[in-house]
Amino acid sequence: MAAPVIDFHLHTVFYEQYNESYREWIKTMHGEEKWQRVICRYQDPDLFCEYLQQCGIDYGVVMAELTPAVTGICSNEYVLEFCRGRKSLIPFASINPALSVDMAQELSRLVELGFRGLKMYPTYQHFYPNESSLYPLYARAEKLQIPVMFHTGSSVFRRAKIKYGEPLYLDDVAVDFPGMTIILVHGGRGFWYDQAAFLSRLHANVYLEVAGLPAHKLMTYFPELEKLADKVLFGSDWPGVPDLAKNVETIRNLPLSREAIEKILGGNAAKLLQIEG
Ligand SMILES: [Zn+2]
Repeated sequence: MAAPVIDFHLHTVFYEQYNESYREWIKTMHGEEKWQRVICRYQDPDLFCEYLQQCGIDYGVVMAELTPAVTGICSNEYVLEFCRGRKSLIPFASINPALSVDMAQELSRLVELGFRGLKMYPTYQHFYPNESSLYPLYARAEKLQIPVMFHTGSSVFRRAKIKYGEPLYLDDVAVDFPGMTIILVHGGRGFWYDQAAFLSRLHANVYLEVAGLPAHKLMTYFPELEKLADKVLFGSDWPGVPDLAKNVETIRNLPLSREAIEKILGGNAAKLLQIEG
């Protein structure tokens, strides 16, 4: 049986707080009028699930975003409610080191509520991912077997600080927490494709996620994609992409083996998220 198609990187269209540079960017992507329509339509999780289905996507990871200094706020509570009772939507929580007193305890609380993973935004939350203050959180994620996504690489939003997105800092974390799954979101976009690819081959617990990268350029960024296929996760960054269905289609048509494409589009993610095909 073919592996399911899993989009590992989806945002909701509703944020409690959108910051100016995010709003400008998303309008440039969709156009003002279309963006308003997208917001109206896809605030409804059932219509959103239908849309994923139309695009050939079986499951999607929906991420909270507590980054008030850069893009805005999409709360954990909202994401949990959005995904509730919908098998195809998999909620990932957000913890902001500047806003949380006990991050390990907060992770346990979020997992008990139903979150299946965590997304950290070093470039938006302004921290180095190998800071020792984060280690109790990682120990908890390892213990609870919760995969942790880290934004790596560039960002266009005002007040994002790209230095925190260098994948190499996650080498420390991969070594010190060998049982924690680390996902390099955006594959080191812009400056660090090689670093991200290298780390994902070197460490059994490190994966490379390709959201926000033009799908037709993946072979240019990662010439060894076929060899990396066991460690690559498809993600779109919707609504930050104009056409989700086309994104999937382009990946399907990359010059790779069928097996590699199935793994990238969902086979690997299904194992990480314990989803049966
Ligand atoms: Zn994103």
